[in-house]
Amino acid sequence: MEKKVVKEIKKPKKTKRDLSTVTGMRDILPQDQKYWERVREVAKQISKDYDYERIDTPILEYSELFVRGVGSQTDIVEKEMFSFVDQGGDSLVLRPEGTASVVRAYIQHGLLNHTQPVKFFYEGPLFRHEKPQSGRYRQFFQFGFEAIGEDNPALDAQLILMGWNSLNDLGIESVIQVNSIGCKECREEYKKALVKYYKTKSKLLCENCKNKMGRNPLRLLDCKEEGCRSLREDSPQILDYLDDACKNHFMKVIGYLDELDLPYVLNPYIVRGLDYYTRTIFEYWAIDDVEGKNALGGGGRYDGLIKILGGREETPACGLAMGMDRIVAKMREKNIEVPEERIDVFVAQLGDAAKKKAMVMYENLRKNGSFTVSQAFHKDSLKKQLEIANKMRVKFTLIIGQKEVGDGTIMLRDMQGGVQEVIDFNKIERELKKRLEKYNEGAVIDLTQNEESENKIEMSGNISSEIESLEDQKEDIEEIEKLDLEK
Ligand code: AMP
Repeated sequence: MEKKVVKEIKKPKKTKRDLSTVTGMRDILPQDQKYWERVREVAKQISKDYDYERIDTPILEYSELFVRGVGSQTDIVEKEMFSFVDQGGDSLVLRPEGTASVVRAYIQHGLLNHTQPVKFFYEGPLFRHEKPQSGRYRQFFQFGFEAIGEDNPALDAQLILMGWNSLNDLGIESVIQVNSIGCKECREEYKKALVKYYKTKSKLLCENCKNKMGRNPLRLLDCKEEGCRSLREDSPQILDYLDDACKNHFMKVIGYLDELDLPYVLNPYIVRGLDYYTRTIFEYWAIDDVEGKNALGGGGRYDGLIKILGGREETPACGLAMGMDRIVAKMREKNIEVPEERIDVFVAQLGDAAKKKAMVMYENLRKNGSFTVSQAFHKDSLKKQLEIANKMRVKFTLIIGQKEVGDGTIMLRDMQGGVQEVIDFNKIERELKKRLEKYNEGAVIDLTQNEESENKIEMSGNISSEIESLEDQKEDIEEIEKLDLEK
């Protein structure tokens, strides 16, 4: 039997003395999750509003997918891919972008036989070995939409709208930068004109642009260096090189954007970095990012990619990707409030028997599905539990102690008004539902006026004498009385 050659893993160049995240990668801590969750929520809602269905593709792909799809002369493939040869000798890469993977899936699963366009929504991490800086990470997150199998300009406009809507729904003001880079044929002519123009000025270009001139001249237009930026003012304009079909397509896209009253500018200098784009391309810049140094997202049409990756010829497609890291950073910069979900009911307990009963009750409440629940059964002190409930800003707390276990009752505390009442243990779920309905309608609940309540107790923001009777936690109770539970 032939022996499989297993490549030896090379020794790492550097070993860090302190264990920390890999350069350019970061942790997203629990306290930041609310922003990410909100972005995911909005992305998901947009995908539903426009009928894009979720797809998850693997994080590892064959390198060839991006070499062929994104283009061997692009920054991503030339220098930014995290690639390695695995134990089986395959050349693999941590995906640097989402579109090529989605197109691979479309081809691999024969989705061209479905009703076209097939519309995908995705979200997840991407990896590029870029120079880490603010807004540029080596692991970053995108959500994106891809519509494969249709060339109607209404689709381009709707995708542009979807990206803008997602930012708008998150409270971020942005301006759409839109351009057309035509089809392969018109672009070839345009590239020649660009090279001719820049050749006479090559001494004035930055090193990077000098390098790019022969290989990817479109990129000279979106160089951020001051010298290169001023040179582009007199450069040939792509719109003059579009053939009739491309021009018509673009005019229709623009017509829809006008109709939808979207804030856009025609920007002849955005070219996007990847080879696969054709015709419409666009980016989203925050309203105060006038030079587009930190685009929040972008996309475009890629009519040639499906064929390049082995699919059917003439399969048009269009898509976009939004940078979640930059969106979250913008939300924080602009102090955009993220509505926090308030837990409905906290279950507190005092004493061993009560804890057991509370744990079982908690499972019933959780399964009921009508309310969100929380607890801190790892704490024995009632004071500590109420502090936790208070910090969570829960709406109601159920308190069960030894006396309540004996009585078959439970104390229900309205955390906002500080009013408490004793209710029958068997009626908890029904009573809670009623109070939450009122609460969510915004009604001020006066439990003391509740006709059905058998044991109305008027409270004034401290814990009731019901708890005071729990002698074994006297100290706690005194502390609790001092707690200011008013919001
Ligand atoms: P692209 O896939 O290059 O078209 O990028 C789409 C969006 O992803 C950009 O507009 C950025 O918001 C975001 N993005 C791209 N690269 C990075 C990165 N290295 N770090 C953080 N966000 C990124």
